[in-house]
Amino acid sequence: MPEVAVVGSGPNGLAAAAVMARAGLQVEVFEAAGTIGGGTRTSELMLPGYVHDICSAVHPMALASPFFRAFELARRVELVVPELSFGSPLDGGRAALAYHSLDRTVQGLGRDGAAYRRLMGPIVSRIDGVMDLIQHQLLRIPKDPAAAAIFGLRTLEQGSGLWNMRFREEFAPALLSGVAAHAVSHLPSLAAAGAGLMLNALAHAQGWPIPLGGSASIAAALADDIRAHGGVIHTNRPVESLRELGGARATLLDVAPRGLLNMAGDDMPGRYRKSLESFRYGNGSCKVDYILSGPVPWAAKELNDAGTVHVGGTRAELADAENEVGAGKHPERPYVLVAQPSRFDAGRAPGGHQVLWAYCHVPAGSTRDMGEAVTAQLERFAPGFRDLVVQVHVTTAAELANYNRNYVGGDFSAGLMDVRGLIQRPVVSPVPWRTPLPGVYLCSSSTPPGPGVTGMPGFYAAKYALKDMFGLKVPALGI
Ligand SMILES: Cc1cc2nc3c(=O)[nH]c(=O)nc-3n(C[C@H](O)[C@H](O)[C@H](O)COP(=O)(O)OP(=O)(O)OC[C@H]3O[C@@H](n4cnc5c(N)ncnc54)[C@H](O)[C@@H]3O)c2cc1C
Repeated sequence: MPEVAVVGSGPNGLAAAAVMARAGLQVEVFEAAGTIGGGTRTSELMLPGYVHDICSAVHPMALASPFFRAFELARRVELVVPELSFGSPLDGGRAALAYHSLDRTVQGLGRDGAAYRRLMGPIVSRIDGVMDLIQHQLLRIPKDPAAAAIFGLRTLEQGSGLWNMRFREEFAPALLSGVAAHAVSHLPSLAAAGAGLMLNALAHAQGWPIPLGGSASIAAALADDIRAHGGVIHTNRPVESLRELGGARATLLDVAPRGLLNMAGDDMPGRYRKSLESFRYGNGSCKVDYILSGPVPWAAKELNDAGTVHVGGTRAELADAENEVGAGKHPERPYVLVAQPSRFDAGRAPGGHQVLWAYCHVPAGSTRDMGEAVTAQLERFAPGFRDLVVQVHVTTAAELANYNRNYVGGDFSAGLMDVRGLIQRPVVSPVPWRTPLPGVYLCSSSTPPGPGVTGMPGFYAAKYALKDMFGLKVPALGI
């Protein structure tokens, strides 16, 4: 056994392995699947030459991540930043648009432009303080209390029945709820408002990038670095028991709490076991990938230039769709997250064809194929869409759970993202990456700061493993 064993090669497992390998330790990564990457895999899902992101596609969180900044990800992977970060189509060929430029966004929001600026401007101008708050765990004193107060008050407003109080038209609310709904949560709710305002502010502060070649290029950059520092990565190597890794001094687990419970068996102390057993998972997603013979014929033409489109209509419609999922139902008109990667990366599809990435939320464990419901929503805002479809591939929530054991019931956040789920991740502790088993650390997105391709859970787990087990500090991570 190596000095350090890492189980799972998602972005967090790879980030943890890179930190440990750079500290001069002998590292081996064990990945159950046939390829590395976890939620950052890209592959020819349907036809040769058509390259699809299987899970993550758009990376505001990676660009803002202190780990990826130190790792100089932007020098290792080409990140294309669309000027139009995202948009929300409304019936009648209208759309609300969030540009990288806050000024341009405000200009497009008509009578609510000034109100949107008053809401978002102070968060955008204090983005570093806000990200410091979000990229650690909630139980600590913020470095920038003013940023925390500004962000907290706006989260209270947008996460409550007061959410429309500033606005007179449909555009700004649709724009904000389109992002808040990423959280797979009740609308309005504090968790959705917090996630939404943060992602919204990142759109204006830095943009929402798409990596050339797909998300797998992020995993490849991490893997290259691990190997360059002597690390070894094994694929097709599921780890079913921690006893298989007995000789390692430190073990970092890119697994959900359920995975840790299975791997530890009777070795897990009772109190910690009970906490992990009480850990709650969220609702699932149904992924729908398309090959199209041309660009999406959006009725609102501006959306051609958007990296991401939040499809579902007005704020009230988005809330209805998400709250139906919360009530265990499959909405007839779901909220659909859409990315248009081949508009910005010509290498994703040949001959003027396009690949389109989409998913919608569904109840946990759902086996329902939402392909037709997603296509119908796209047709609603892009008449003629159906005629362009060359091929569709649907992955139900139940299939997503089989694809990656961290996605329990199809929950790719690896844990419910409500306020309790942010604080108990997976236990309430100042160092939740440590487990009571000596030398064993959790490094998946079931630990703070939670989901998204940030590498931060992996970074924190590695930081504490280095300190506790080897008396070492975090090494330099740049090129
Ligand atoms: C459809 C979809 C869309 C998404 N869109 C975005 C997006 O656009 N932007 C974004 O930032 N995030 C997005 N995400 C979320 C993002 O992918 C995850 O938050 C992120 O990948 C979590 O990283 P992780 O390393 O914690 O776990 P994962 O990426 O899930 O990786 C865990 C890895 O561990 C392996 N593993 C687990 N148990 C074992 C075991 N016992 N033995 C060996 N290997 C094991 C798994 O096979 C897997 O490869 C999306 C996810 C999905 C599914």
